[in-house]
Amino acid sequence: MKYFIQTYGCQMNYSDSERIVTVLEKMGYEKTNGFQDADLIILNTCSVKQKAEDRIYGLGEIFAPLKEKNLNLKIGITGCMIREASGIRGDVKHDVLNIMPTIDFVFRIKDLMQLPEILNKLHKTEGAEGVKNLCDYFHIPPTIANLTQVFIPVSKGCNNFCSYCIVPYARGREECRPMADILDEVKKAAKRGAKEINLVGQNVSTYNAPDADPESKESHFAQLLRRIDAVEGVDRIRFYTVHPKDMTDDVIDLYGELKSMVPHIHLPIQSGSETVLKRMNRNYSPDRLRELVRKLRNRLPHMSISSDIIVGFCGETEEEFQESCDLVQELKLDLLYISKYSERKGTLASEKYEDDVPADVKKDRFFRITELMKDISHEYNQQFKGEKVKILVERIRKGYADGKTPEFKMARFKADDPKLIGKYVTIKVDKPMEWCLEGDVVA
Ligand code: SF4
Repeated sequence: MKYFIQTYGCQMNYSDSERIVTVLEKMGYEKTNGFQDADLIILNTCSVKQKAEDRIYGLGEIFAPLKEKNLNLKIGITGCMIREASGIRGDVKHDVLNIMPTIDFVFRIKDLMQLPEILNKLHKTEGAEGVKNLCDYFHIPPTIANLTQVFIPVSKGCNNFCSYCIVPYARGREECRPMADILDEVKKAAKRGAKEINLVGQNVSTYNAPDADPESKESHFAQLLRRIDAVEGVDRIRFYTVHPKDMTDDVIDLYGELKSMVPHIHLPIQSGSETVLKRMNRNYSPDRLRELVRKLRNRLPHMSISSDIIVGFCGETEEEFQESCDLVQELKLDLLYISKYSERKGTLASEKYEDDVPADVKKDRFFRITELMKDISHEYNQQFKGEKVKILVERIRKGYADGKTPEFKMARFKADDPKLIGKYVTIKVDKPMEWCLEGDVVA
């Protein structure tokens, strides 16, 4: 039988999907490349925005004719949309099962070990021997989709209750992996050719390992970074995401010291307004953000800093929005993932505040802060003109090979050979644009 997984959302979801693949392949399912010829479809969903959920609901219409054609087809949903329970239709109650009659089962990602049992009921599959040994989420080895850049979870769940966010309800409280397990996964990935390690967790800053060195004065996350840096073959380490309230100085101090700490960090600020940050329950101030950025740029003056911003959060005034723009400009945040606030049922914000910023105002703020980011990014990228940059090639598209520089800048050069994927190539930049650096290969 053939499976197809459609993944939405953040790196954590992509990492989860690699573990789902392992379970399915151990059960004997084979991968296929689309909905059309699948006997099993799993949607690994994101629930950050209402739009993301609506997109899933919209798939109901596509699934009905597929199920008519293939009576064996079973469809399930996991990810942040599934928070209440795991099981098959009839055994569990879930809004999504009422809204989408074509869905056969749902499972919380933390219940991934229940997936074989669910599928045994639906497809009458006999679980493969190997599945029985998969005792918990973290012990399910991932089936890595991209061998050169891997996503490795350090923790799951979250103990922060940012008022707009559903994740703590969907993924539960924070649970951290032993350092030895993470290192083992890193070493295996490096042996297979991984060059870039992306550590993922809702808040990697509070990583708390049961097997950290008790004699060390460094935070557990700093210890982990040191150990990964020492693994042969690892050239780049990135991590998603730090929480500004918890980021420690010892992690900042590793920039410029460890060879694989790239000159880029993702620091989600969400807003530049003290009052909005309070309503968001983020527990830090704009001054804390200024302090962090100052320390980071003291270590690496040209560090690229990307961020997340929500515009139009409950009660956001024009002045509060302007404070966000001012802070983005002041801190020179050169890449923003901007979202217009949309209410998520079940969050603190949905109970406490009104989603009262009109849609057209949110749209306007989205546009204005996007324009600001473009200017900052364009200005930042000018420093690369005439310089050599090293790209880890990710794909070949429309006559170009592209990939990221250590600063997380997309860069490209003319090429059409797929063998370049996963290789380092150095180019001399002659065209630094807003979103991309372009140039020719140099020896
Ligand atoms: S830190 Fe806040 S935004 Fe991030 S996952 Fe936890 S609750 Fe959500």
